[in-house]
Amino acid sequence: MRRLQVAVVGSGPAGLYSAEALIKQSSALNPPCEMRVDVVDRLPTPYGLVRYGVAPDHKSIKSIAEKLRLVLEHDSVSFYGGVHLGHDVSREDLLASYDAVVYATGAMRDRRMGIPGEDLPGSVAATDFVNWYSGHPDVDPGKYVLDAESVAVIGVGNVAVDVARILIRNPEDLRETDISQPVLDTLMASKVREVHLIGRRGPAQAKFTTKELRELGELDGVEVVTYGGEVDLDAFDPTGESARLAEADRHIRGNYTVIRDWASRPARASARRLFVRFWQRPTEIHGPRQVSGLTLERTRLDSSGKFTGTGFFDTLNVDMVFRSVGYQSVPLADVPFDDRSYVVPNAEGRVLGPDGAPLPGEYVAGWLKRGPSGVIGTNKSDAAQTVQWLLADLAGGPSPENEHGSENGHARANGRAAAAPASPAAAPDFPQAPGYPEAAPGYPGAAPGYPGAVPGYPEAAPGYEAIARASLEELLASRGVRPVSYADWQKIENAEKELAAALRRGARVKLGSREEIHRACGMAMR
Ligand code: NAP
Repeated sequence: MRRLQVAVVGSGPAGLYSAEALIKQSSALNPPCEMRVDVVDRLPTPYGLVRYGVAPDHKSIKSIAEKLRLVLEHDSVSFYGGVHLGHDVSREDLLASYDAVVYATGAMRDRRMGIPGEDLPGSVAATDFVNWYSGHPDVDPGKYVLDAESVAVIGVGNVAVDVARILIRNPEDLRETDISQPVLDTLMASKVREVHLIGRRGPAQAKFTTKELRELGELDGVEVVTYGGEVDLDAFDPTGESARLAEADRHIRGNYTVIRDWASRPARASARRLFVRFWQRPTEIHGPRQVSGLTLERTRLDSSGKFTGTGFFDTLNVDMVFRSVGYQSVPLADVPFDDRSYVVPNAEGRVLGPDGAPLPGEYVAGWLKRGPSGVIGTNKSDAAQTVQWLLADLAGGPSPENEHGSENGHARANGRAAAAPASPAAAPDFPQAPGYPEAAPGYPGAAPGYPGAVPGYPEAAPGYEAIARASLEELLASRGVRPVSYADWQKIENAEKELAAALRRGARVKLGSREEIHRACGMAMR
């Protein structure tokens, strides 16, 4: 049976959905292709954004980890935590040890606004704040002190909504979540009583989703305040497009219904207030030594629908500013990267080289492939597309664009890339997926240079998988890197459950720091 060994870099949803698709799609080939997947992550813990991005009070979204767990526990999947591409292993190492590599490291850096004062103390990137409240091992749990009474959150996407909700909700509500104890203690001591959520465009252009938005109005002890003119869809949009969208688009209609409901509520005397603002763009964060205010310019659409400033400015007295204007991917060492779109250049998941041609054996999935958009589930179909190309290129599976087979397949043999010329017919030992036309022109299965035909390809060697797997382990051992195994991760999980019991707090409580994570699995800090 044909066998493939694939490394997936990143154990978040995109990485684990890729691993799942590799297992499922390879077993559906006819005959099936035997698949081994090694999932490598620079963090000692799996699940990426599900663990370190989804807010602690979003328990049902967090429960996706239980589905992803099944992928990691599959017999054909191994977890190598604490292994950093570019430090512990290189791109070359992976390409030499595996038939293919799927990069799925997400987007972990904040976008910038490019306004004065953005780097003042008290001006905080939402990416970092989300990492902090999620107990990310890279962020010191003591990093933030919330001693400002009034703060601004810039952006009206779902991350901004998460940040605003965590800042304004009664922290007592978070006791039963997995939020780490030092973070909960900081939120308990928080002086924040006013959050200003700032959208530079209107309610019809906001990026948040209705369910997340509605939740803001359901928080105990929190009053949501809107400004009448700003929620009038025609006030800042003379084209009428906003009003039209609020009728025609189900998602925008849902958002607008929520916002209109808030606008019609009578004022209440609540201890905590959330101001939801529109048509205001930040122009300067004031210091001098730390944030003391935020200047906003009133914006509008002009008669041609162009977004523009009006020259009317207002300054908010806020002592912290949370910048939630989108995420960006960071380049991986030696892996192609597009500095303008902040993704790995790719065609439906096949990594493209400088000449625009697919690079043999290299694939990308998730936010690193398409940018930071969509919900977690979006990564499932995205990963399936990448994997379909991978199997079309390496195992003769049907490609996404041509369910009848890959026209431009290329193969890797024992770590060496080999272009696979088109072949008119399938190899006799490599039958097709059901429905695949036997004699399809361009089918790469029997191409000279295809792994199966390369002398020395270890297909027939007993213990092939053990050889390839051992090579990553041996390589890491020779470099003094002790990866975190799945068994180690289970020890971390047990320690989190024991901590929750000791603190009398819910089902689990995240360990507060990298030291505690390493201690839980008996590893020394590196
Ligand atoms: P996002 O949805 O792209 O929202 C970014 C926001 O920042 C937009 O309102 C954008 O306004 C604004 N913005 C951009 N540049 C700005 C600037 N210079 N000044 C002022 N505002 C600016 O990004 P995100 O909130 O980071 O979310 C990323 C992805 O994760 C999204 O797909 C989101 O749905 C997903 N997510 C989902 C959940 C959930 O399902 N619960 C939770 C968190 C995140 P413009 O539109 O005017 O550019």
